[in-house]
Amino acid sequence: MHQLIIYGPPGVGKGTQAELIAAKLNLEHISTGAILRKAAEDGTELGIQAKEIMDRGNLVTDDIMNGIVKESLKKINKNGFILDGYPRTLVQAMALSEIFNELGFKDIKVINLIADENEIITRLLKRGRSDDNRETIANRFKVYLESTSPVKEYFSKQNIIMDINGVGDIEDINKVILESIK
Ligand code: ADP
Repeated sequence: MHQLIIYGPPGVGKGTQAELIAAKLNLEHISTGAILRKAAEDGTELGIQAKEIMDRGNLVTDDIMNGIVKESLKKINKNGFILDGYPRTLVQAMALSEIFNELGFKDIKVINLIADENEIITRLLKRGRSDDNRETIANRFKVYLESTSPVKEYFSKQNIIMDINGVGDIEDINKVILESIK
């Protein structure tokens, strides 16, 4: 059973790679960003609040995100899961460890996708989602540095993180990831 987390800065290609991996290995793709955008589309109370937060490039509260992920992880199939966009804070990372303990997941691997900031900003501006404007992107990077980078240290200490170059052909990058998680 695959128990995967894909980690990296905004726009590095986590969603693209996670989707490919999930399709090829028949895993549950748990994208917290996609879950929040769906809630916004559906016009739920959570979605309406989340949309405002996302459009400013800030983070939805840890409690809400921990709850969403716990529920999603309870429903996965026998092949496993890939978490995308979570954990994004140290508090989330510690909550996730608890959730993994509770659900009996012990063989976690973290894929750390790497690309430089200029490459990423170019990609995001091309994509043009409602949070892909210069001002929001700048804040997302600030939030990433301040709140999300400690998550990497947390995983590094557990020796479960693998660095993967996120620049190049999408399928080539995907092959490298698939090889690394065998
Ligand atoms: P990206 O990785 O390109 O920044 P995502 O789709 O993962 O985009 O996330 C979009 C937005 O959704 C984030 O900027 C944030 O506001 C919100 N979000 C997603 N995941 C989380 C999370 N784990 N904790 C808090 N907020 C989140």
